[in-house]
Amino acid sequence: MTPEPVDPEAVAPAVANLDTIVSLSKRRGFIFPSSEIYGGINAVWDYGPLGVELKNNVKRAWWRAMVQDRNDIVGLDAGILMHPQVWVTSGHVASFSAPLVECGTCRRRYRLDELPGAEDLSATDLRDETIVSRLGLVCPNDGGPLSAPRRFNLMFTSHMGPVEDEASIVYFRPETAQGSYVNFKNVLNSSRKKIPFGIAQIGKSFRNEISPGNFVFRMREFEQMEMQYFVRPEEGAAQAFEDWLPKRRAWYEAYGVTPSRLRFREHAPDELAHYAKKAIDVEYRFPFGWKELEGVHNRGDFDLGNHARASGENLE
Ligand SMILES: [Zn+2]
Repeated sequence: MTPEPVDPEAVAPAVANLDTIVSLSKRRGFIFPSSEIYGGINAVWDYGPLGVELKNNVKRAWWRAMVQDRNDIVGLDAGILMHPQVWVTSGHVASFSAPLVECGTCRRRYRLDELPGAEDLSATDLRDETIVSRLGLVCPNDGGPLSAPRRFNLMFTSHMGPVEDEASIVYFRPETAQGSYVNFKNVLNSSRKKIPFGIAQIGKSFRNEISPGNFVFRMREFEQMEMQYFVRPEEGAAQAFEDWLPKRRAWYEAYGVTPSRLRFREHAPDELAHYAKKAIDVEYRFPFGWKELEGVHNRGDFDLGNHARASGENLE
């Protein structure tokens, strides 16, 4: 017997106002604004007594499915700070950026693809110098003129050691994945794994978002769960990618995520990240629209290949 189709709105009604969730989360001790007694700091949130338990449960469920229940994936906990050359080689110094426009009147800065009327632009349009005048975009705050988009790098930087110069720059990692790539040989040699195998990590990452928001959905400091699965390029990397998709869908559904609120969206060719051959975003229908929960990306041999060339280490 086929079950009756379930109306997702009946099961999980859309919340009209995100503020309702924010204030409930605070009242119940799930999530507090960071540094609240000083007025808070934009896009950083603290997990309270119940929030940390909930978050730990999610992390444990993911770790169980990705590491403990499999014999081809192992864990790793790499440092947040890494050799700055890692981020040059990975392409993040050159390409990990968002399109920034600035108002000539109030000097406010916006992410171009979050301005009203620019939400659905292609990646090519977002790099087009004439796009602001072509669409007649103005500042949402005061109607002032907006600059042409320029690329704004999303990595936080600091300096290591007592000298603050160009040579001492370090980056707060914007993803945990690079820790897995640079430790590939260490893990391979010490864990008795053979390719194909995976390395999983859970940890803090940092992105200096131009316009963070939607509560804990887009934060400047956040926790990631990432797993890199290594396959020889000539031995079915494309197939391994396809094999992961139903596994990831099943994981969400096993924990009660309403299937009709979940979709797998493939990136358009001009939307692909600098490292990706093919990319699927697992998106959830939040009260504020379809947003990415997880990315499944075929990065080819971009990372290991580049790190091998740049470091001189044989990573084969
Ligand atoms: Zn303005």
